[in-house]
Amino acid sequence: PKPLATRIALVTGAASGIGKAIAHRLAAEGACVVIADLDADKAAAAAAEIGGPDVALGVVANVTDEAAVQAMVDATVLAFGGLDLVVNNAGLSLSKSLLETTVADWDLQHDVMAKGSFLVSRAAAKVLIDQELGGDIVYISSKNSVFAGPNNIAYSATKADQAHQVRLLAAELGEHGVKVNGINPDGVVRGSGIFAGGWGAKRAAVYGVEESELGAYYAQRTLLKCEVLPENVANAVFVLCSADLSHTTGLHVPVDAGVAAA
Ligand code: NAD
Repeated sequence: PKPLATRIALVTGAASGIGKAIAHRLAAEGACVVIADLDADKAAAAAAEIGGPDVALGVVANVTDEAAVQAMVDATVLAFGGLDLVVNNAGLSLSKSLLETTVADWDLQHDVMAKGSFLVSRAAAKVLIDQELGGDIVYISSKNSVFAGPNNIAYSATKADQAHQVRLLAAELGEHGVKVNGINPDGVVRGSGIFAGGWGAKRAAVYGVEESELGAYYAQRTLLKCEVLPENVANAVFVLCSADLSHTTGLHVPVDAGVAAA
């Protein structure tokens, strides 16, 4: 694989939280990064935090919109001359029980995460295959893709869809040297817009703790007794895409301080 220092990376939902940390880590390794998100100003501001237009570009793109996704990939190739690494990170969580979940809720969760990552992977794979240089696609799935949690049916189901996309695309794109892997984070409270935007309050109610204590609650149920930070997920993306893991594809890496193993 190309060294990370020469790669061009595209991270969806990267104006905030985990995606932003991933963009920063890849840029620190020398990669050029495209930060795609729903809000043009926030995407541009997040890119400017990393550096000038020669190293980082902010792009507005709703991953549920086929034309916008194609335009995002085209903008990446136009700006930096190619594409080598894609992170399907954009997401949201409504945190609703079965009886609370409307058809609109179900559709929104699946549009953004299952359909959105399908559209991004498809548009990116075309470039990766044509370049004949291999590459990486990483899905930020969730512990919830495997383990049941209460009151989160649509979110968890669409995370399981993403996890299966990892296996399917690893099989389909392997012959082109494209590795496809997933990361299953859990309990990344600090820095997460999902937690700040109402999910945290709902999870706190489910677990019977104050919202301000949610990070500590997640930490105490892990094996390592510590909170998981966006940077921990970003480090896992770096490792999966580094030359040292050049022969690993179709893998799901938990970044949850051991909660799934507990
Ligand atoms: P976040 O809200 O900080 O980041 C999500 C980003 O995705 C936001 O910037 C948002 O604007 C963007 N986004 C949402 N819908 C979009 C769309 N249609 N098109 C483009 N961008 C869109 O939250 P986060 O916690 O950093 O979550 C990032 C990813 O990690 C999500 O996929 C989430 O499900 C996953 N995840 C998070 C946790 C956690 O504990 N925080 C755990 C497991 C998985």
